[in-house]
Amino acid sequence: AISVKDIRKNFGTVEALRGVSLEVDEGQKVVVIGPSGSGKSVLIRCINGLETPDSGSITVEGMDLSDRHVNSRALARDVAMVFQSYNLYPHKTVLENVTLAPIKVLKVPREQAERDGRAYLDRVGLSDKVDKYPDQLSGGQQQRVAIARALNMHPKIMLLDEPTSALDPEMVQEVLDVIKSLAETSMTIVMVTHEMGLAREAADTVVFMENGLIVDQGTPHYLFDETDNARVKSFLSKIL
Ligand code: ATP
Ligand code: MG
Repeated sequence: AISVKDIRKNFGTVEALRGVSLEVDEGQKVVVIGPSGSGKSVLIRCINGLETPDSGSITVEGMDLSDRHVNSRALARDVAMVFQSYNLYPHKTVLENVTLAPIKVLKVPREQAERDGRAYLDRVGLSDKVDKYPDQLSGGQQQRVAIARALNMHPKIMLLDEPTSALDPEMVQEVLDVIKSLAETSMTIVMVTHEMGLAREAADTVVFMENGLIVDQGTPHYLFDETDNARVKSFLSKIL
């Protein structure tokens, strides 16, 4: 579970987050939408400990992120992140990419990391690519490797920041299908996406951000069909 309480984050004069609170229950799927620059990535990065809020508090799986005694290894054990760019290690094979962090960070025995890694690669449809290098794969395949890599950390929480937005259009569907299958698991998921079909299908809650604030939130049906919020309606009319 995740509890974000009134966090603020400035970069110089830019107020990226201006008091954001968000509760995410165990197993809940939250999709964050909103215009460019509204603070979506900064929020995700704060939850992952990549950014530190100027004020407010964040608790992830019972760990208070402002507590100096919470170590980053404990957080890395529970939270995995998938970015827009997949950042695979170019000189490592697909299987090595998927097993490196579990072996190094979690101290999982190599044999087990490889067995699990192969299973996750199979799950994302890449069992025939285990010995390839990233540059031998398409963008969609690389992003699926990145998802398998995240899964091989056996996270309780998966954070995804626009996982399909760097992909060529014909590669998007294969990654969306993998993410939809994740949404059927008990993992807690917070995802930023511009794919409204995915939000509708996969989200329990859709959160709309604008200007560093959560402006509206609710079920997909509420946010896409029912809300009276003019800002939400205007945003959706532009992207749908
Ligand atoms: P997009 O949809 O384009 O990804 P976003 O909602 O994810 O937008 P953020 O990346 O969260 O937007 O950025 C929110 C604001 O904070 C922006 O004005 C951005 O320029 C600023 N910002 C984010 N990270 C930094 C940083 N490391 N240094 C300075 N400014 C930053
Ligand atoms: Mg962003």
